[in-house]
Amino acid sequence: SLIVRHHVRSARRWVKTAEILKELEEKCATPNAKLKQIADAMTVEMHAGLASEGGSKLKMLISYVDNLPTGDEEGVYYALDLGGTNFRVLRVQLAGKSGIKSQEFAEVSIPPQLMVGTSQALFDYIAAELAKFVADEGDKFHLPPGRQRELGFTFSFPVMQLSIDSGTLMRWTKGFSIHDMVGQDVVVELTRAMKRQGVDMRVSALVNDTVGTLAGGRYDNKDVVIAVILGTGSNAAYVERAQGTPKWHGPPPKSGEMVVNMEWGNFRSSQLPLTEYDNALDVESLNPSEQIFEKMISGMYLGELLRRVLYRMADEAALFGDVVPPKLKTPFILRTPEMSAMHHDTSPDLRVVGNKMKDILEISNTSLKTRRVIVELCNIIATRGARLAASGILGILKKLGRDTIREGETLNTVIAMDGGLYEHYTEYSKCMENALHGLVCDKVSDTIKLVHSNDGSGIGAALLAASHSQYLEVDGS
Ligand code: BGC
Ligand code: MG
Repeated sequence: SLIVRHHVRSARRWVKTAEILKELEEKCATPNAKLKQIADAMTVEMHAGLASEGGSKLKMLISYVDNLPTGDEEGVYYALDLGGTNFRVLRVQLAGKSGIKSQEFAEVSIPPQLMVGTSQALFDYIAAELAKFVADEGDKFHLPPGRQRELGFTFSFPVMQLSIDSGTLMRWTKGFSIHDMVGQDVVVELTRAMKRQGVDMRVSALVNDTVGTLAGGRYDNKDVVIAVILGTGSNAAYVERAQGTPKWHGPPPKSGEMVVNMEWGNFRSSQLPLTEYDNALDVESLNPSEQIFEKMISGMYLGELLRRVLYRMADEAALFGDVVPPKLKTPFILRTPEMSAMHHDTSPDLRVVGNKMKDILEISNTSLKTRRVIVELCNIIATRGARLAASGILGILKKLGRDTIREGETLNTVIAMDGGLYEHYTEYSKCMENALHGLVCDKVSDTIKLVHSNDGSGIGAALLAASHSQYLEVDGS
């Protein structure tokens, strides 16, 4: 009878597990009709955000970039890229029409305590890395006497810009939370820190990573009009018509165009397929009720959503036995790269899944059946995220009138993509791209191309530093 009881218990566990799985699948469903509604909602919010400041959850920030790189940029320029898990310093030697002559970079990860400390500590750390980088180059790149080095600063958070080289931090996102920084001018803070570290450099351009990626993408391909980041966080920027930005009261740009940083991570709509896991994640996050779209689609959160579903299965369906494995209680212990590795496991016994469970969560001896459930969960969560990202892009295409094509019209829409999630989580990127092509008719589908803009945001910032150099007049360019 002991054996019978065991079987009954085990059967009950699987029934409950299947129930939770099925419920998740239903709640996360993203049929095309729904994605189109979400895209429409995105377009509506874009209009509202462009009409007036604060008119929408979508900030639609004016970037002050009204000219994208032409390919004529020349000279040695630097870039700092801060925004995700890593921080980079970059030097690019631009040789006009012959392109990039050389480029070098250094990358360091940001110590977690600096993400939640003081602005001085964070900026001193960055400026010190920059100082090292410059010291290491010796006199290889000597500038004419009296000429200051110039820098493009990629700062990947919502910033209200006042000019191309200034802007105040509106709020932090992702894992950052440094209170004394909010409302401060990012360039002023960096410039002070550089002084303290003895670096003589001028910030010529302050850009969001999406804007940098758009600039870097355009340098390589004239048809780039949109840039999307799918990394720790998520966001998009695109080229808007100047008349399309009623809230812009500055002088009309000569080009007739303005790059807009959407901050689409903060999008939300009643159409979004939110679950109890999303709501709990949001409530317990550093930024409750903000960045709802980002929390469904970006790399910082996918693994955490998976952990939350597994926790419920452990708790309510005893998926891992009678006690909930203690590690499973730790927020953010399951990172998206680990989730991706499990999702891509092709071994017949799902060995990668088994090992991850053991190494990260200290759960040994998972059955094949359990491992299959885990892969299925990865699939549901990643698919929802990827398809939602595609609907966001469709929203932009609609805003630009590039979701339809007229007889005889030629149209080329190239989207510059970057971010660790896009780059490394193949199932996710494939799903996103397929979803996007599936949302438009075949003729339009043929006009849309996604390109990976490798490190575009850094190079883009350096290019924009070049085109906004303080010496342009002097040089006569
Ligand atoms: C930030 C954006 C950024 C994106 C990708 C978001 O959390 O708000 O400014 O572009 O992450 O890095
Ligand atoms: Mg990046």
